[in-house]
Amino acid sequence: MRYVSTRGEAPAVDFEEALLAGLAPDGGLYLPEEWPRFSTSDLDALKGLAYPELACKLMAPFLGETIAAESFARLTDDAYAGFDHRAVAPLRQIGAGEWILELYHGPTLSFKDVALQPLARLFDHFLGERDERLTILGATSGDTGSAAIEACRGRANLELFILHPKGRISEVQRRQMTTVQAENIHNVALEGTFDDCQALVKALFADAAFRAEMRLGAVNSINWARNMAQAVYYFASALALGAREIVFAVPSGNFGDVFAGHVARMMGLPISRLIVATNRNDILARFIASGTYRRSTVEPTISPAMDIQVASNFERLLFELQDRDGAAVAALMEGFGVNSELTLEPERMAPVRALYGAARVDDERTLATIAAIERETGSLIDPHTATGVAALRMAGLDRAIPRVALATAHPAKFPDAVERATGRRPALPDRLADLEEREERVTVLPNDPDDLKRHMREERRARPKERVA
Ligand SMILES: *Cc1c(COP(=O)(O)O)cnc(C)c1O
Repeated sequence: MRYVSTRGEAPAVDFEEALLAGLAPDGGLYLPEEWPRFSTSDLDALKGLAYPELACKLMAPFLGETIAAESFARLTDDAYAGFDHRAVAPLRQIGAGEWILELYHGPTLSFKDVALQPLARLFDHFLGERDERLTILGATSGDTGSAAIEACRGRANLELFILHPKGRISEVQRRQMTTVQAENIHNVALEGTFDDCQALVKALFADAAFRAEMRLGAVNSINWARNMAQAVYYFASALALGAREIVFAVPSGNFGDVFAGHVARMMGLPISRLIVATNRNDILARFIASGTYRRSTVEPTISPAMDIQVASNFERLLFELQDRDGAAVAALMEGFGVNSELTLEPERMAPVRALYGAARVDDERTLATIAAIERETGSLIDPHTATGVAALRMAGLDRAIPRVALATAHPAKFPDAVERATGRRPALPDRLADLEEREERVTVLPNDPDDLKRHMREERRARPKERVA
């Protein structure tokens, strides 16, 4: 399988290159040259498989010859062994024909574990084969940092530096990152805002000499392997519900999760509708309604992982809508860079209208939905999940078709909103119950690129070889 760039100027590469590069050299995002197709009888043959086995079968065509089948089977087994639920992504019924898909049973209680656990192992595998090391640098305002840390901890060929804005993330979020005791994990609390963290990361990536010296890399949401790994749970849930027509509602920010549903559909899964749920930061919902994608300012909400205006994976959808014309995508993105908006011609929007729905769910409706689910089922959902459930219920869908909202975070990750809605404060799972007592490891740094560079040079583990020599 070869991968092409959404901007059409970069040469096609294999899976390994697309994975390690993340972004294509022309500034585009990688997508497979063609979609592997699973027929109805192929889908029947996948029913009843354990999640890691299903993941292995569905992802194998994307990996091509880059990894031996047995190595990849071991890798997927290992990636999901740390999940609290045997099913990895279990369904829970919340109404007639209505389910939530619990994607939060991984180590850090958000759906980001589902993709980052295999992703870090794939990085480590290919780097090991090349006898190379990569230093991953990233900034986090919450969830992604902890999922990346849990996925990379202890990996021989990866070094991870994660910046968070000092004093500006929740205590649970900070402790999930800083209490991980592993030699290759380095937490930096930056004296500044999240934007300062991001600007600093950008500055270091733009410094070609430092970038080469450290062999800097990223595991951000534009990496193709994340879309690929997320497509698996769409299959798992649809197969469990009989693999007939099915609707998904997806709490969305960077459009990575919902694009994974798009991928699943291209692979042959009979998804009849993908409903994009946004909070007040509704650029995606506005695009689906109007065909105009226009940036506005980010507003804070009670579903902070969705407080995003420019959705990094949106370009992948654009590429599909432009019949894979990279030059057209490059022109649209250039226009967006200048004007902060782009508009598709009405005929280009026809496939969007046929497949996608969207809803903007404000905080008030989010809280009301958390309360309604607690009343109706006795159980708690988190505010991100609630936007998905609300969007599903607002869509006025055919009640004969099974409808699934993706549950993207555990309610205990956002206890304040859940308590506000229901009066009940959700408890962390047992294995995290002592989080408050665990020792923290974090370095406070001023907002200065030279300090960060010095810190990274000092803290990076010596290569085992260098130690011997
Ligand atoms: C990251 C995240 C989202 C948004 O997912 P995208 O792939 O960026 O659209 C939704 N909910 C939670 C809890 C998240 O952590």
